[in-house]
Amino acid sequence: MSTFKRVDESIKVAIIGGGPSGLAAAIELARLLFVEWQLYEQKPTISEIGTGITLQRSTWRLLEQLGASKHLRAEDFFRAPDGHDNQYRPVVKASDVEQINGISKATVFWYSTDSKWIYTTPLDDSDWEITCRVREAEGGDRSSWGREVSLADFLKGFQEYCEPVQQLLSLVSRVKRFDYFGGRRLQSVVKHGSVALIGDASHPLSGAFGAGAAFALEDAHTLAGALLWAASSKRDLADALRLFDSVRSPYHSALYQTMDTIAASHEETSRNAASAEEEIVGRIENVSKPEHNWMYYHDVDQALEDAILALEETAIKSVL
Ligand SMILES: Cc1cc2nc3c(=O)[nH]c(=O)nc-3n(C[C@H](O)[C@H](O)[C@H](O)COP(=O)(O)OP(=O)(O)OC[C@H]3O[C@@H](n4cnc5c(N)ncnc54)[C@H](O)[C@@H]3O)c2cc1C
Repeated sequence: MSTFKRVDESIKVAIIGGGPSGLAAAIELARLLFVEWQLYEQKPTISEIGTGITLQRSTWRLLEQLGASKHLRAEDFFRAPDGHDNQYRPVVKASDVEQINGISKATVFWYSTDSKWIYTTPLDDSDWEITCRVREAEGGDRSSWGREVSLADFLKGFQEYCEPVQQLLSLVSRVKRFDYFGGRRLQSVVKHGSVALIGDASHPLSGAFGAGAAFALEDAHTLAGALLWAASSKRDLADALRLFDSVRSPYHSALYQTMDTIAASHEETSRNAASAEEEIVGRIENVSKPEHNWMYYHDVDQALEDAILALEETAIKSVL
């Protein structure tokens, strides 16, 4: 992107990566006639990575706006990985789960101590998903997606769980580990006045809030909105990216703040709990507080509109 070019004169954009943020950016930018874009993806083909993804209400709203939701079918949501290949989020057969007494058909988080949880949910009539989170010491062999691990080692990490969960885990035949890691927190998501970071590249949230896809779509939507604003008000690209940054960077900071608040309350809970059970109850209460769910209701259009208003008010004041 050239920094000082007026946005309405047509700009060229390179989108790096065809994950949720890159694809959303492509759809959003395709709607802007003054943008010529090219998407670069390192993988030669679209392929399944074998992990589930939860669509939060905010994700769904943006998929609707993108016109993508109408292309999603039930089997897209509830699709097991090929064969019976089990990952960190293994899929097991519903007919086997039905034999276990004490496993609810509702989606359940089975909390333990030390940030450990197991999430169980039926996907459709034939499959169940199990997601297991456990905090492990950092090793030198971290990989981003899907490293096969020993089933015995995996099961060792969840031995304190009650009998129905043990039976459920015994159905898993292979498991892969998906590591969460991220870079440092950035003050700004714009570099050199011409590069905008979107999606996971812009924030190290490491899976917090289970809404990385929503954040990615919000980034792309805001970026397109900022470019449209610049084009219609005859600004240059740097103005558009400054606006984008002024909307998204504070949003990320607010997410970090919420993440830190929850982490601090978990630490306090662990310190003060008289028993494992008390700690688990405390942790559930910490994450369930309504003030920690604000991001699912975030109105990304309103946030951009507010930032544009604030910018224009500042501009008027500087003229007066
Ligand atoms: C195990 C796991 C479970 C998750 N569960 C959920 C969930 O339930 N709900 C939710 O909303 N989010 C979830 N997330 C987070 C969500 O998957 C991410 O936030 C989201 O995928 C981010 O999209 P992205 O496009 O920014 O990045 P990515 O999805 O990582 O896509 C980046 C793309 O860029 C490509 N790429 C990388 N480098 C280059 C390069 N140099 N050149 C060209 N292409 C390149 C990659 O191949 C990839 O296709 C989960 C994440 C993990 C790891």
